[in-house]
Amino acid sequence: EGTIKFDSVDFRYDHDRPILKNVSFEVPAGKTVAIVGPSGAGKSTISRLLFRFYDIQGGSITIDGQDLREVDQSSLRAAIGMVPQDTVLFNESIAYNVRYGRMSATEEEVRQAADRAQIGDFIERLPQGFATQVGERGLKLSGGEKQRVAIARTLLKAPPILILDEATSALDTQTEQEIKAALDIVSENRTTVVIAHRLSTVIDADEIIVLRTGEIAERGTHQDLLKMG
Ligand code: ADP
Ligand code: ADP
Repeated sequence: EGTIKFDSVDFRYDHDRPILKNVSFEVPAGKTVAIVGPSGAGKSTISRLLFRFYDIQGGSITIDGQDLREVDQSSLRAAIGMVPQDTVLFNESIAYNVRYGRMSATEEEVRQAADRAQIGDFIERLPQGFATQVGERGLKLSGGEKQRVAIARTLLKAPPILILDEATSALDTQTEQEIKAALDIVSENRTTVVIAHRLSTVIDADEIIVLRTGEIAERGTHQDLLKMG
């Protein structure tokens, strides 16, 4: 469940400048495909198209064979989990921020997700910034901890499709490794699109697609791409 297929996709935001040109790739259910390329190449545009924030001008995008044009945005939001570069938290407890992944979850389920993401110790606290009104309940979350909140939220939501959009780019090297390990658990057996700047951060992907100015410049496994130079 959750096979994504881009078939000769053409896309432009406005009428003159093409952003994606004849882009074709498939993410088989449960596999991981990485989209790598310089800033402005069109990587995030691919994730916006998956949420159907925009319609494409040519080609097709399907999930499990169904054209996205026939799928409403709320179903897509339910089916796709997203961990962005900087997770923005609500002015609510960490527990609420985790629960946002699936509002119907029981307290026990929220706690389990938080424990798995290693934020179980502070789920009743508020993210700082919002915490000034309430004094000591406030907690300053590091970038890594915020990503753990996003991870717990995604574990709870358990979507068939996952997008990791530069999810570790804002972190220091040590934290990046820790969050990558946590994300590996979330993405296991889930159809995953990883968006990244650098090849070195997506070594394990089943396929890597190198995007340059909206076109696929190279593709293959990490090993294949190293051979090509
Ligand atoms: P990447 O994620 O690879 O950095 P993006 O997908 O964000 O690239 O952007 C690709 C191109 O589309 C860039 O040139 C960017 O300026 C342009 N772009 C992004 N969003 C919009 C928008 N809402 N309207 C017009 N152009 C946009
Ligand atoms: P939920 O799935 O819990 O309803 P949201 O309503 O916050 O979550 O948003 C739905 C999904 O759309 C989220 O995974 C969110 O990260 C993603 N999203 C929101 N804005 C953008 C964007 N500009 N580009 C890509 N994805 C986005």
